[in-house]
Amino acid sequence: MRIGKDQTIYIMDKENKPALKVKSGDKVVFETCDCFHDTIKSEEDTISGIDFDHVNPATGPLYVDGAEVGDVLKVNILRIDIASQGAAVAAPGMGRIGDRIKQEETVICKIQGGYAQYKDLKIPLNKMIGVIGTAPAGEGIPTGTPHDHGGNMDCTLITEGISLYLPVNVEGALLAIGDLHAAMGDGEIIGAGLEIAGEVEVKVTVLKDFDFKLPLIETKDRWITLASRKTMEEASDLAINNMVDLVMKKTNFTINEAGILLSLAGNLRVAQIVDPNMTMRMELDKKYLN
Ligand code: CA
Ligand code: CA
Repeated sequence: MRIGKDQTIYIMDKENKPALKVKSGDKVVFETCDCFHDTIKSEEDTISGIDFDHVNPATGPLYVDGAEVGDVLKVNILRIDIASQGAAVAAPGMGRIGDRIKQEETVICKIQGGYAQYKDLKIPLNKMIGVIGTAPAGEGIPTGTPHDHGGNMDCTLITEGISLYLPVNVEGALLAIGDLHAAMGDGEIIGAGLEIAGEVEVKVTVLKDFDFKLPLIETKDRWITLASRKTMEEASDLAINNMVDLVMKKTNFTINEAGILLSLAGNLRVAQIVDPNMTMRMELDKKYLN
């Protein structure tokens, strides 16, 4: 089962008509445009030339049968395939050094042998998903904004092999995916990663009794809470508290013990600090929770 890249949305919204309906446990391929809607093809194409009503497209939404409000949608990222070249950009006013950038620039990077070629540098690939989320309960949220439903979290850990747990806020969940990056560093400081088209294969499972704060990532050896808010401080506090709750639920630790464990062995890290909300994450090795 497959959703084509012609089925894109720009707002994660309960009113969006499903592009496809599947059952819990099904596998689905999402074909994705890059965040510029595939309009930047060469170094002559700059971002001032793109249509800003059509940035950050997400493919979908996918309706999952049996997903009811209050459930959790587990999304296994089985495979991420990317195109043969991606676009990196700089522009005045964009990202964290936009006040120092005088002119815009596009760099096309070819993908070869596990690397992205940036000038004469080989950047290791880190194929990741920038935008992934479900529809929020209330008003729709633009695909460029991250919040509790997921969205534009731009987290370098949303890669092949992980599971992402997202809230089901509306019947069917309405999952949408877009904005792949071939490579990106934590922070995404210039406001974009190596933006690239591609496709993502996921397995979606509805969970009825999964009572942890979301969004949450599970890797082979780590739990990671994600939180997106106006400031890094607010996002950090939420990610930290959500991990404290996870530790207390999985162990018999008191709040003091959970806090000390996270202070000794947990890592607070930045996902991105360039989108309309900042996204922070708290990581803890699973071995401490056995
Ligand atoms: Ca993004
Ligand atoms: Ca992006």
